[in-house]
Amino acid sequence: MLYTLEIKTNERFEIVDITDEVQKAVWRAKLRHGMVVVFSKHTTTGLLINENESGLIDDLKSKMKELIPKGAGYKHDRIDSNAHSHIRASLLLNPELVVPVDQGELQLGTWQRILFVELDGPRYRKLLVMACPCPEFPEE
Ligand code: ZN
Repeated sequence: MLYTLEIKTNERFEIVDITDEVQKAVWRAKLRHGMVVVFSKHTTTGLLINENESGLIDDLKSKMKELIPKGAGYKHDRIDSNAHSHIRASLLLNPELVVPVDQGELQLGTWQRILFVELDGPRYRKLLVMACPCPEFPEE
């Protein structure tokens, strides 16, 4: 089962917790055992799993800005001034992630959340969420 998750971001650089939306897609797909694949269809976004704590979110954003600053003489800036967003997405994040599912529930740790990272917003973004049954646990 494949679902599209539409996200409207509100800031240039924003981290959005999408855990609840992914869990709802798993329930909608009636997936009991298997895994869910989340995939972002963009070149200036990324995904990660970590704690959604406001201080940590600020720390992550600050460190990404420090590691890959805006306007540092990138060639791509001649086209649309967002080279830093593409480079942060490429070097620091991934367009996809996978979470195991058991008894219909995402198997995340206590503090783990699925975080979508907007690096060049605000924009409308599309993510794919694919619920994949595991062959060792056939669906009834
Ligand atoms: Zn660009």
